[in-house]
Amino acid sequence: MKISRNLMVCGVLGAGLMFPVSVAAQTDGPLSISLATGGTGGVYFPLGGAMAEAWSSEIDGLTVTAESTGASVVNVRLVQSGESEMAMVQNDIANYAYNSDEMFDGDDALDNNMGMAMLYPELIQIVTLADSGISSVNDMTGRSVAVGAPGSGTEANARQILSAHDIDYADITEQFLPFGEAVDALRDGRIDAAFLTAGIPTAAVIDLQSTHDVSIVPIEAEMGGQIADTWPFYSTITIPGGTYSGVEDDVSTVTVLAMIVASADLDANVVENMLEVLYDDATLERLCDTHVRGCDISLDTAQEAMPIPLHPGAEAFYGNND
Ligand code: GLU
Repeated sequence: MKISRNLMVCGVLGAGLMFPVSVAAQTDGPLSISLATGGTGGVYFPLGGAMAEAWSSEIDGLTVTAESTGASVVNVRLVQSGESEMAMVQNDIANYAYNSDEMFDGDDALDNNMGMAMLYPELIQIVTLADSGISSVNDMTGRSVAVGAPGSGTEANARQILSAHDIDYADITEQFLPFGEAVDALRDGRIDAAFLTAGIPTAAVIDLQSTHDVSIVPIEAEMGGQIADTWPFYSTITIPGGTYSGVEDDVSTVTVLAMIVASADLDANVVENMLEVLYDDATLERLCDTHVRGCDISLDTAQEAMPIPLHPGAEAFYGNND
């Protein structure tokens, strides 16, 4: 399906049925969009890349580039400043940014960020080597811990989860590392554990387990429940045994959700067209082939737990597809 942005065109379905494809974007001429994603060892980057390719190939005049960034907190700031038109972010961070909450306390509301689509669960994974002697969050006291890239959602989650265990950065040696660098540091013995908030399986962990015996530190369900009571964007979940080789038992943890935000400055027709392409069967298949979490992306859950107001283009799209 190819959508022309400035003309009313007709598409042809496989069944031979003609259907009108909506269009008439207000922007004149070619449009380039930056999609802020995350580090190369995560899931945002490959899935964002696959979405960018689908949008660029299916919408005339539109080029979307997936940029590697420090992830969620940086991303909402990039959208607010206009440096990126769209971003993949965690739902907790989008909400904090919109409401000047938590790490955005004292900032003006980052209300250029508007909701486009909910995507898939992102699990808090605390990764260590099997022989590290760390089997609980409390065991991390006094140890060197990667807490995520500077400006990542992971780093915000690490701080909250440690604080729920009465641990703060004064009690550990914190290292601000993206996933890829964190697993290299684990491998070299420069750190003892690493927080990752990402869809499972996460490439960086698969990379580590290919050379080392890995263990995942649990956040037990009772503590998970307390964390969810304090910060309502968390819910309890398990990492199924076998997700990573050598980690054969289920591990309790907590999860947030990945979503896409679009700038309030982005034309509503463009956003609507992008959602039409996103939920086209061919695109969904391509995303599912790129990463198993891409298989979670569905129109049925696109608005579930949306933490900020919808972009007008998303509102129009979902209004037409209810
Ligand atoms: N959720 C992570 C963060 O914002 C990024 C996950 C990923 O790159 O897949 O820190």
